[in-house]
Amino acid sequence: KGPDPDLVEIADRMATVKHKVLVLSGKGGVGKSTFSAQLSFALAGVMDYQVGLLDIDICGPSIPKMLGLEGQEVHRSNLGWSLAYVEDNLGVMSIGFMLQNADDPVIWRGPKKDGLIKQFLKDVFWGELDYLVVDAPPGTSDEHITIVQLLQATGIDGAIIVTTPQQVSLIDVRKEINFCKKVGVPVLGVVENMSGLRQPLGDVRFMRVSETGEERDDTEWALEYLRKNAPEMLNLVACSEVFDTSGGGAAKMCLEMGVPFLGKVPMDPQLCKASEEGRSCFTDQRCSASAPALKKIIEKL
Ligand code: ADP
Repeated sequence: KGPDPDLVEIADRMATVKHKVLVLSGKGGVGKSTFSAQLSFALAGVMDYQVGLLDIDICGPSIPKMLGLEGQEVHRSNLGWSLAYVEDNLGVMSIGFMLQNADDPVIWRGPKKDGLIKQFLKDVFWGELDYLVVDAPPGTSDEHITIVQLLQATGIDGAIIVTTPQQVSLIDVRKEINFCKKVGVPVLGVVENMSGLRQPLGDVRFMRVSETGEERDDTEWALEYLRKNAPEMLNLVACSEVFDTSGGGAAKMCLEMGVPFLGKVPMDPQLCKASEEGRSCFTDQRCSASAPALKKIIEKL
């Protein structure tokens, strides 16, 4: 029996891709896709690499929106499916581009999802890439095993795991790390996202709360008061620990599991806005709470 023809075709496509990085998370909603999107923006826009971003979160593809490519369609040519481009050096592929209607649910069983992932690697014209970033669904399901098996055949650099500082998220990250160890994918490191909320005081809403719980927005009064009496306070950044970090957060878990800790990214409403609008946070001055933290993490990779 000869070699699997699909694997031969995938090896051909992947021969022009220098680095392959998988982005994983234990739970949904921790910022995995946000990280994948901003990692791609940084590699392409800041570091000038040729980057491909593959979204295999088949049931919840949010990458098209986060890259500002909503409503785009991908086309087939004799070279294969063509990517949707943000810039000449940043191309994206997602099932989101193939849905007739963005609200359509994707209700597929494992084998069909596996087939699509295979096609993404085999039939897409990726071209010459410095980096292929793969945004995986949360957890460790069929899709993960499929992508790992297919990429391993042609070499994979490793996985970046995104988590929040909460115990409930960290418990699942341990499973994710053990999954990587079991299937032989190096863990490049863990990112602690939503690590405290940071907001310049000038962006905060100041509420007056009555004893009966009624709220009134008194921001204008408060800002005016600060401008008059303590203008230097407006340069301060308000920081709140949103999640309970008494367990030591991701840094401690990394020590225990023997994997690298890459750093913390705070919760930043401006990062949320930039990703809702499909923009890079690295060219947005307002993302001053999150962009430097993300940049520091990405430079470590
Ligand atoms: P996941 O891919 O893990 O399901 P998402 O990347 O879709 O999570 O993030 C969930 C939501 O949280 C999105 O609306 C995103 O904009 C927001 N978000 C993620 N990280 C941050 C952050 N550091 N600060 C503010 N909002 C964030």
